[in-house]
Amino acid sequence: MATKLLLLEDDPAIAETVVYALGREGFEVEHVMLVGEADRRLRDSGRPLPAAVIFDVGLPDGSGLDLCRSLRQAGTTLQALPVLMLTARAEEIDRVLGLELGADDYLTKPFSPRELCARVRALIRRSQLSAGGEHAPAAREPVLVCDEAGQRIRCGEHWLPLTRRELGLLALLLRHPGRIWPREALLDAVWGQDADSTDRTVDTHVKTLRGKLRDAGAPAELIVTHRGLGYAIDPRLL
Ligand code: CA
Repeated sequence: MATKLLLLEDDPAIAETVVYALGREGFEVEHVMLVGEADRRLRDSGRPLPAAVIFDVGLPDGSGLDLCRSLRQAGTTLQALPVLMLTARAEEIDRVLGLELGADDYLTKPFSPRELCARVRALIRRSQLSAGGEHAPAAREPVLVCDEAGQRIRCGEHWLPLTRRELGLLALLLRHPGRIWPREALLDAVWGQDADSTDRTVDTHVKTLRGKLRDAGAPAELIVTHRGLGYAIDPRLL
């Protein structure tokens, strides 16, 4: 049976491309154009949830970001629904991946249909992996805990003294432990259009972050450098 997806996008041309590209990969895409429709569809307990949802940000009756936030606060299986955001502007990325919204991934328009398909497949794979872990015995509290509402990160009993960029960087890495983030992706997500930032900016911030983690008693190698690839959180040390 085809894997079902829900697409919330008001631009017919983009929607058509997305539905076609994902359809070719064997996905069955339900397309809606309004936040209200998507919300009703997802909260309709009579119908099974899609494997993932793809949300545009700017829609005629509201914002995909707000819908994403409300799903995360739903306190039901909706909370774990994988969300890929389609953003039109780089400035939105900060908020999309931001602590309070909880999208799992994003693509900036214009994007290639191939890239979209790859991201959707990865998203579904990750969510299946983490769902499989649900039956594992209750784990101890992780070394670092992100307080999504307060936009701060706790190490044991102490809140880490982080700058805005350090917080953005660490929160992003923590969202997907083990996932390797290329420097450009980190720059994109955390620094956005800030013209003064370079790959070196990321390196410098990782260095100060490691210092602060060490000072707080966290393992020094929690943030791993993958040579030539980027940075990741070592899930075994978390
Ligand atoms: Ca739109």
